[in-house]
Amino acid sequence: MFFMCSHCVARYRTIKDIDRAGLDLRLWCYACQHTAVLDGIIWSTFEDRGFPLEIDQARAHFRCRRCRSKDVLLIPARATGFRPKGPENIAAAWFFARRSAAKKRR
Ligand SMILES: [Zn+2]
Repeated sequence: MFFMCSHCVARYRTIKDIDRAGLDLRLWCYACQHTAVLDGIIWSTFEDRGFPLEIDQARAHFRCRRCRSKDVLLIPARATGFRPKGPENIAAAWFFARRSAAKKRR
């Protein structure tokens, strides 16, 4: 099984929140275990089409590219090219770096 960590659930409610944190979206297919990474900016397409931005509902609009299954999981991914947009993101990057360092010590 694959779980979203409690930290991610608490921090990100919408796919827009994930993009704001400077992260991309990772798609994970339950049917064939195929994974794909989408640019975090995908939320703007959702907004244009009137699709919901909440992670739980947005995932219904994705489809696995390999097996066409709609049973996919959406999780935040580390951005491939981290692009800081402002002080908020720099703070977020610092926060994540500290957090993962703290986890390793446990
Ligand atoms: Zn699949």
